[in-house]
Amino acid sequence: MNELIVFMCDGAPVRGEIVSISSAWQAVLERRNDPPAVRRILGDFVGAATLLSASLKFDGTLIIQAQSQGPISLLVVECKSDLTMRATVKLSVEHNAIDPDASLSDLLDAQNSGRLVITLDPADRQPGQPPYQGIVALQEHRGTVIKPVRSAAEAIALYMQNSEQLDTRIWLASSDTHVGGLLLQKLPDSGGHTQLDPQAATEGWNRIQALGETITNEELLNLPPETILRRLFLEESQENGVRSFPARSIQFACRCSRTKVADVLRMLGEQEVESILAEQGAVDSTCDFCGKAYHFDAVDCRQVFKTESLADATRPPSKGH
Ligand SMILES: [Zn+2]
Repeated sequence: MNELIVFMCDGAPVRGEIVSISSAWQAVLERRNDPPAVRRILGDFVGAATLLSASLKFDGTLIIQAQSQGPISLLVVECKSDLTMRATVKLSVEHNAIDPDASLSDLLDAQNSGRLVITLDPADRQPGQPPYQGIVALQEHRGTVIKPVRSAAEAIALYMQNSEQLDTRIWLASSDTHVGGLLLQKLPDSGGHTQLDPQAATEGWNRIQALGETITNEELLNLPPETILRRLFLEESQENGVRSFPARSIQFACRCSRTKVADVLRMLGEQEVESILAEQGAVDSTCDFCGKAYHFDAVDCRQVFKTESLADATRPPSKGH
């Protein structure tokens, strides 16, 4: 089961999503060797990335990056509009130094340095045009009191509130085999619900949220999205109607390639590559996302500097602004 469904409520200005990921999540984990507490947080962000990607009207790649001076120095989850995704984590401490019960707040130093950067990189972005970035601090300062963000769900809800101005609730759960998530979003009052007066709209949003709050981690991890939808909103669908759209599938896919590694070598420059060759006899690079190894011996490296990058050759010349 690697599925995401979108649903709309007729009796409330609410759009929702339910996601369930199993083999695509296992494909991420089998390439990695992260401590249990880190796996849980990575799983939550994988769920969050698919939910966010499906909720933004946007064609391109959504990148969630968490950075901190805590045990997790960097966490990256990428999800494209077609719901292919990949994920990686970098730790600043030894694996066995991480408490199995460590929280997001502990691992991403939410008391001090932790922050989340969410990047939307459009598929048709022109050279030189920067992608859109939103930053969420993982701590809220209220006077002298610092309130750390406790979960991935809370961090993403903060982002949606700040950048999209949309009331959003998210529930996430992850295990070593499954990731599950539920997203509820209050649509702007004019969003196709002109038949609802403001009071009915507010009541509808509160009613759907209250139903959402009854979701359990077990349900999110074990039930297919359609079953969760029917169970959670049974009464709502009998009285008002809840419509779901065809399920979309989620897949693990890495975008690394030998051509991209060759591009990196060109960026390093011939001199730098020659010095690596002199020291190590070859240039070896391993993809952080999928673990694939790329080996360039002296002959390969010489070839790299003899040929133009395929990507460069097909890209229109940069206008320099
Ligand atoms: Zn890769």
